[in-house]
Amino acid sequence: MKVMQEKYSIGEVAAMLEVSTRTLRFYDEKGLVKPAYIEENGYRFYEKEQIRQIELIIYLKELGFSLKQIKLLIQDERGGQSLDLLLEQQYRENKQKINELNKRQKQIENLQKINFLPATLTNISDITNIMRKEKNLTALRSRLLVWGGLLTLFEIAGIGTAVYLYQMKMTTILVIEVVALIAIVFATAWGLSRYYYEQVEYVCPNCGDVFIPSFLTFNFSPHTPKFRKLTCPKCGKKLYCLEICRD
Ligand SMILES: [Zn+2]
Repeated sequence: MKVMQEKYSIGEVAAMLEVSTRTLRFYDEKGLVKPAYIEENGYRFYEKEQIRQIELIIYLKELGFSLKQIKLLIQDERGGQSLDLLLEQQYRENKQKINELNKRQKQIENLQKINFLPATLTNISDITNIMRKEKNLTALRSRLLVWGGLLTLFEIAGIGTAVYLYQMKMTTILVIEVVALIAIVFATAWGLSRYYYEQVEYVCPNCGDVFIPSFLTFNFSPHTPKFRKLTCPKCGKKLYCLEICRD
């Protein structure tokens, strides 16, 4: 004798699993999960086994599987093996989506950093052009950082030598050394600054004008790694302007 199972109406199952009755009928139509039986009056009833299957479908859907894939899985007798393959495939697809989303997030972050008034950006090519020119600076900045580091090492070595000469009371050589050191450090710093200046130009966040300040203004303006406070020659506003690479 068949043991009597607990039976659940489609409405009860829907409420239990937080899905719509429409979804359950759809699963039936697609041959994913059929009710345990349908009464003569058309009412559908599910038993524990079907409920477990529906739970599995919901779970697999949350992992990103399509109903088509889920159906294959449920029907496949070598279910275990296909699941491995499908998981692998889904994992790769999700990873690709994550990468694409990360890329988009990065672009949005970059746009937020520019903080332009919408009026400035007349068309998309302006934005992409500015972003490209802004990105080109990263390499230049890291090159200059290396040179700056070398210059500091040179200074430290020079000061060390000066201290040694002082202790040895070699006054004449000491004076020559200190003068030469100061001259070399200043010349190199000036050279690096000039080199950097000649590669960059600035975008006014107010009117979008692209301009090059004088070398003097460039050197004495307050700045952050990507912005410099400059007076725009077009609109006359003094604002932090985005640094971009000259063409
Ligand atoms: Zn301006």
